[in-house]
Amino acid sequence: MSARLRDFVVAFGRLIDTHPAEPRILEEGGALLRGLVARDDWLPDAFAKPHPERYQQYLLHLDAADRFSVVSFVWGPGQATPVHDHTVWGLIGMLRGAEYSQAYRERDRLLTAQGAPVRLDPGDVEAVSPTVGDVHRVRNAYDDRVSISIHVYGADIGKVRRHTYPPGGGRKPFVSGYSEFPQGLPVSSP
Ligand code: FE
Repeated sequence: MSARLRDFVVAFGRLIDTHPAEPRILEEGGALLRGLVARDDWLPDAFAKPHPERYQQYLLHLDAADRFSVVSFVWGPGQATPVHDHTVWGLIGMLRGAEYSQAYRERDRLLTAQGAPVRLDPGDVEAVSPTVGDVHRVRNAYDDRVSISIHVYGADIGKVRRHTYPPGGGRKPFVSGYSEFPQGLPVSSP
């Protein structure tokens, strides 16, 4: 693990050790994440590899007690998520390229877009949670290049039972898992 990522994980763990309420996690954890994505010189290539068909979610670190997980999201050109929720707090820091996040609100099984899409550029940090807004659709801002954001979630996000929101309405159960390494690297030793 690179020194920058290790320092971030240690600092984030110390913050969580203090049992902070969510607003403090989003504010102080967000500041830590802003520091991590302020420079793009630490993510190993194995965690920056796009897939031709779908966006990738590589597990960078899982807290030993599942209190938080750190993931690199790698967007191939033009790739996008379905509309989805998280059910736990999440922080998104843009490392490379750019992405758009469109927020939605669900009412009576109907989705309504909330405001304009938010564009994240390198160094920007955004938050999601059931309290601050949990449903969104994210896409690479570029059709011709890879974009990467670093996500921190308040659980082992690959195992969390959450939802996608199909265009026809309603919710579909969804567990994201994590992407496998093409090189067969073990997930536990980035
Ligand atoms: Fe998301």
